[in-house]
Amino acid sequence: MASRVLDWFEQYGRKHLPWQLNRTTYRVWVSEIMLQQTQVSTVIPYYEKFMQRFPDLPSLAAAPEDEVLAHWSGLGYYARARNLHKCAKLAVSDHGGALPEELDALVAMPGIGRSTAGAILSLALGQAQPILDGNVKRVLARHQAIDGWPGKSEVLNQLWHISEQQTPTNHAADFNQAMMDLGATVCTRSRPACERCPLAADCRGLAMGEPQRFPGRKPKKQTPTRQTVMLALELTGEGPATVGTLLERRPPSGIWGGLWSLPEIESLADLDAWLNAAGLEARSDPVTAARLRHTFSHFHLDIDVQALTVGVGDQRILESAERVWYNGGSLPGGVAAPVTKILNNLVGELI
Ligand code: SF4
Repeated sequence: MASRVLDWFEQYGRKHLPWQLNRTTYRVWVSEIMLQQTQVSTVIPYYEKFMQRFPDLPSLAAAPEDEVLAHWSGLGYYARARNLHKCAKLAVSDHGGALPEELDALVAMPGIGRSTAGAILSLALGQAQPILDGNVKRVLARHQAIDGWPGKSEVLNQLWHISEQQTPTNHAADFNQAMMDLGATVCTRSRPACERCPLAADCRGLAMGEPQRFPGRKPKKQTPTRQTVMLALELTGEGPATVGTLLERRPPSGIWGGLWSLPEIESLADLDAWLNAAGLEARSDPVTAARLRHTFSHFHLDIDVQALTVGVGDQRILESAERVWYNGGSLPGGVAAPVTKILNNLVGELI
């Protein structure tokens, strides 16, 4: 694999990126951190400005954090910049003003994982260290048809093992750069250009006819579903001022905290007890007025809206600040999102 990849690199690899010129561990390190979640073309102008202001590790270590963050502004994922700064300070205080040049010591620095450490040591110093960033994972998983999601440790270990085996003793810098370039420009996520790939001859993923199947996707979590019954209680026969649909203000914490909502019960079996406690009397049987699903980040809420008419058994329900008989118009405060939908159907436009 190495000789084919190196030949390909000779012809097609990227060799003039700013961090490939005047290579030092410092310059390669900053580029690797910037490239962790950001594309090359976006990184270049940030990298150049960063290098103008912080040309070496001591200048970065001596800068105030705010200034480092200001130079990161626009790249996102600011923990990267904070760790970069922390790491520079640690290099000055504990490592004589430079990054450690052994893998284990480098991995122990803030914000530097095994692949980033391998990239720094190979690209800057030519050490034969394997790497396994997202691009390399994809190329190796396809070439060797490795099943499973690389977020799982056994899959990751397998990929590391392959990367170790394939990284040549000589020319590790070019090999690693080539593997990253191959993943970024040829073996792309959704449309690998296998006809241009130096690894096509023995690529198992391609031979199976489905290279995109590798690496395996993160297993989807089943989103749990909860049920609730919302009551659309219409008050009638008590005079025009008290006609409307009952809304209650929700408690300040929890979902829809402090917003107006329809009263909720767990199931219809709880209806009579709820009406009694509220000082209301049923004047009709409940009927299903709507069913809808509201999706939160962690669960679906299936809402069964039951409508019935009620009369007032206890006048105090009409005086509570936490309850209103809604009849269109505006409300003093927000309304829970699905309740807006329900009210629009039941009452008309909610303002
Ligand atoms: S042959 Fe295709 S799938 Fe296999 S490594 Fe090359 S680009 Fe990726």
